[in-house]
Parts: sequence; C-alpha cells; structure tokens
Amino acid sequence: MTILLLGANLGDRVMTLRRAVDLIVEQVGLVRQQSHMYETAPWGITDQPTYLNQVLAVETELEPEAVLLKTQAIEQALGRVRLEKWGARLIDIDILYYDHRILHTDTLTVPHPYLHLRRFTLAPLAEISPEFTHPILEKTTLELLADCPDESEVTIFNL
Ligand code: AMP
Repeated sequence: MTILLLGANLGDRVMTLRRAVDLIVEQVGLVRQQSHMYETAPWGITDQPTYLNQVLAVETELEPEAVLLKTQAIEQALGRVRLEKWGARLIDIDILYYDHRILHTDTLTVPHPYLHLRRFTLAPLAEISPEFTHPILEKTTLELLADCPDESEVTIFNL
C-alpha cells in the first residue's frame, strides 16, 4: 500500500483531482481509501491561490521508484508546468508513505520529508490513516497532527 497526496491550485481544481484519481487507478493501482478534498492555504510561497488537497491509499504492485515514474507521468499528462519550487501548479503528486519502508535515493525520500510539518498533509491523512505509525518518527498521524506547529488554514471542501 502506498499513500499519495494530491494537490491542485490552478484551473478547475476538482476536475484535475478527479482526473488524477482516474489515472492513478489505471496506472498505479486500486484506490482503497480516499479522503475528502481539503481547501488549504498555500505553503512556502503564500502569494498564490488556495489549494485543494486529497490523500489516497493505493494498493499497488509497483515498487516505489515505479510509482514515482507513474505519478510524474500523470502530472505531465495533466499539464503540470513547473514554474518554481512550491509555486502554483496544476497538479502535484507526492508519495507520503510506501508501507512502512524508509527510502533515501537521489529521486525519492519516503516517508515524504515534509509530511509531519504540514497541516494540509496531516489533516486529510488523519481521515484515512489516523493510526498509521511514521516509521522514523514513530508517531501516529493523530500524534503528528497534535504536535504539528503549522497553523495554516485547512478545511473540508464541500463539493
Ligand atoms: P516537487 O516539485 O515538490 O513535486 O518535487 C518533485 C521532486 O521531488 C521530484 O524530482 C522527485 O524525485 C522528488 N521526490 C523526493 N521524494 C519524493 C516523494 N516522496 N514523493 C514525490 N517526489 C519526491
């Protein structure tokens, strides 16, 4: 099982997230759980539109590096233009967890290195995996959320 975070802050964000979920089902694996979409304040560069974020639990037979290649291809297919780090983008897909594995390669760090620092990640993650234990920090999602110093606004997006 891999846990993915989707983010979109340009264009038709709901449509983009839905198309991303469809492509993930086709190319990565079955989506076992999905959080609500959350409307979240931008992080890093704050002068940009608000984001919609969603977390998915995906059952996959692909190894982590192959998951990354697929999710990057999906970002490309959905027209992501990389303008600047942490800047606006049509779609961003991050690998939060891959089972309880710890990975550090040139292209992939899992668990995602900012996972515990960002409320926009922890809030939707807590909805689907509240008791999942971070393999390095050895805390559950709920514990990480309680300890998270990030106070940016995160609310469930009602469709
Ligand atoms: P970003 O612009 O934030 O989407 O960063 C993308 C880059 O982060 C890619 O070049 C990936 O190789 C790298 N990366 C490292 N760890 C991860 C991860 N857990 N999930 C997604 N991308 C990652």
